[in-house]
Amino acid sequence: LGAATAAALAVEDRSLAHNYSPLPVVIASGDGAWVTDVDGKRYLDGLAAYSAVNFGHGNQRLLDAARTQLDRVTLTSRAFVNDRLGPFATALADLTGTDMVLPMNTGAEAVESAIKVSRAWGYRVKGVPADRATIIVASGNFHGRTTTIVSFSDDPTARNDFGPFTPGFRTVPYGDADALRAAMDDTVVAVLLEPIQGEGGVVIPPASYLPAVREVCDEFGALLVADEIQSGLGRTGHTLAVQRVGVTPDLITLGKALGGGIVPVSAVVGRRDVLGVLRPGEHGSTFGGNPLAAAVGSEVVAVLAEGTFQQRALDGEPVLRGLLEDLVGHGVVAHRVAGLWAGIDIDPALGTGKEIAHDMADRGVLVKDTHGSTIRFAPPLVVTDDEVRHAIGALGEVLRAR
Ligand code: PLP
Repeated sequence: LGAATAAALAVEDRSLAHNYSPLPVVIASGDGAWVTDVDGKRYLDGLAAYSAVNFGHGNQRLLDAARTQLDRVTLTSRAFVNDRLGPFATALADLTGTDMVLPMNTGAEAVESAIKVSRAWGYRVKGVPADRATIIVASGNFHGRTTTIVSFSDDPTARNDFGPFTPGFRTVPYGDADALRAAMDDTVVAVLLEPIQGEGGVVIPPASYLPAVREVCDEFGALLVADEIQSGLGRTGHTLAVQRVGVTPDLITLGKALGGGIVPVSAVVGRRDVLGVLRPGEHGSTFGGNPLAAAVGSEVVAVLAEGTFQQRALDGEPVLRGLLEDLVGHGVVAHRVAGLWAGIDIDPALGTGKEIAHDMADRGVLVKDTHGSTIRFAPPLVVTDDEVRHAIGALGEVLRAR
């Protein structure tokens, strides 16, 4: 380790709660698809802050939007109206083909908000008896870290010692529409799913799955809530991952890239007859919808409306898939690719995902492991084909050396 890195890690270890176990890389600056550590070593960023940095580090257009707003006004609270939020909401609804926007800050807050809205819709519109609302979720899900959200996680590390848990959730196997149908009843107000499971290892369900889920929801009068916090906003080559299979959810949660990698911005977007159930005073957030967030979010929406980042992800997909295909049998057991997003299962005999990520960092490429021996590759969408070749080439070298 470089001297500055070692010093920074010691400070980190002393003063931070140990809820992460980061790679020993201390980032000091970023530019496009690259970051530089405190000792001056450069790395290709293959995580993009869990897809919150889809548009690249130091994106000047987004930074300019933030800088301009910093000099005007940054926080008003929603006790008053600010002049940036309305235009942001209108543009975001247009971009996503929805009617209304509920602005929040983090992904978990957006999911919590979608849960509250779904329940209120269930009681007020569907007519579910008080306190009986059920939300169906999928095995292997990841929707955030709040107590309600971990209540329906099946990852022991996310749950253990954090109970008692919030009731009202039912889990079905991901990717199995028949199992979903069998779990439906009159109390079900919503089915909450990731169109592609990100933290689960970039798990892509069969193309028939989400259309079948849509049908089941329609049949039973339940809402389809798509958590696009990681899959949305360009990553898969589309504005929304549900567009890959032509499905229209009733509510969509967005976050991560919505803040352009600058500020936390999340939202629930959806139909007027669903989000419209909220009444004044029932839900809110001090920072949600603040003018700085709205200014950055507006620029993100403007960028996405042009479609260039979606196109980059679409164009990169066959390149990434081809490179990974070449590694199958050479340390890679399986891979799943959607746009510039890959889950890569490494032969467990060669090491854990964490160990592989360590070796790749030594070679100047940052990736993140998920469960066991899976690593995920999700670079900023400004990455070039050559940079993708460089990153997957480094993976090949790491696997050969093990
Ligand atoms: N939902 C999905 C699909 C996610 O991938 C994440 C974060 O990884 C979240 C929700 C939670 O977002 P946040 O960490 O901003 O609370």
